[in-house]
Parts: sequence; C-alpha cells; structure tokens
Amino acid sequence: MYQHIDQEGFVLPYATGKVVCVGRSYRDHAEELNNPVPDAPLLFIKPATSLAPLDEPLLLPADQGPVHHEVEVALLVGRRLCKASPAEALNAVAGVGLALDLTLRALQDELKAKGQPWERAKAFDGSCPMGPFVSPDLLAPLQQLDFSLTVNGQPRQTGNTKLMMWSLGELLAEISGCFTLMPGDIVLTGTPKGVGELNAGDELTLTLDNKFAFTAKVAK
Ligand code: ZN
Repeated sequence: MYQHIDQEGFVLPYATGKVVCVGRSYRDHAEELNNPVPDAPLLFIKPATSLAPLDEPLLLPADQGPVHHEVEVALLVGRRLCKASPAEALNAVAGVGLALDLTLRALQDELKAKGQPWERAKAFDGSCPMGPFVSPDLLAPLQQLDFSLTVNGQPRQTGNTKLMMWSLGELLAEISGCFTLMPGDIVLTGTPKGVGELNAGDELTLTLDNKFAFTAKVAK
C-alpha cells in the first residue's frame, strides 16, 4: 500500500489524498504531441487510489494500448491551501519528489477526439508511481531543479523546473483557487518532452537535482 515516505524510507506524517496534475506546463512537451500551448494551466486530478510506491514493481494496465511515462516533479503539500498567494503556497511545500504520470496514450487521444474527460487514460489504479519526498532545504532552489528519466540505461526525458511556463508558486496558487489543497495532497507539475512507451521488465532510473536517484521496475 502506498504511503508518503522521505528519501531514507521513513513514513511521513501526512495522509494520502488527491493528486492534482498540470498538463502542458513545458512548451517542448506540448509541441511534441502537437497540442496547443494553453494560456492557463490545464489541470486534472488523479485520486489517491492512483498512487503506487515507485520501488515496487509497476503494474501496467493490460490490453488498453501503449502506456507512456511522463516524469514529473511532485510537490507534497504540508498545509491547507485555499486561494493562496504564490509565496504562501511555496512555503507550504513539505517535500519534493519525482512521480510518473502514467498515461494510456491511445485511449487519451480517443477521449480527446470525443471531447471526453481524460480520467480513464490517466487516473486508473497505479497510474501515479510516486517516489520518496526530499525536504526542500536539501535541494537547489525549487525553480532550478534538474530531473531526468532513463529507461534500460537510455536517456528518455530531462528537464529543469526553470523551463516551466508558470512558476511553481503560480501553479500552486492557481490550483488552490480551484481545489483546496489539503496536507498530504500532491501536485504533479508537468512533463518535459521525451514521453514514450513502457514495457514489461523495463528498468527505470529517475534523478532529482543531480543528487538523488530512484529506481523502478515495470512488472513482468
Ligand atoms: Zn503529465
């Protein structure tokens, strides 16, 4: 069962809650999928049941087409945020980690074409493998974080939070104006380009701030 943990594996004292996700916050990823660059953050939610520990074999849905990885910087919310200012919101970040926003890409394309919500493609059980959370004071300033994903030793995605179209504070503030964020909620801040398919047995390494590395494996 998923619980929030820190980089040493200790369980953090926050309940698990919703995961609010931002789509197309990196211009290069919006462009790679031929999506228009939005003028306001595109938001969607994964339920708590989407969370899975990154260090346990990842279970992908079967027979629903390709499952894509999207590596994303994840912020753990430490205090209730409702209509917060960017500064207030940034102060409430209790931890920073890396998540995979797993996406059934063909299904998402179908839903988009029909004008339907994306949940079937993005909010299924296990669709949010989540790594440990590192205290922000152990990291570079949050708007200058390098992160990357390699699959079977091949680099797939690299990003830096300075390339986002909105700052992390702006994103959190905008989100808290729509959905009250509770302690233990997570915000996924979007993916840079390089998304691609995962397959049974793939071995993944995710790095944060060139300091922390987390490994994961897709179940066979
Ligand atoms: Zn995403």
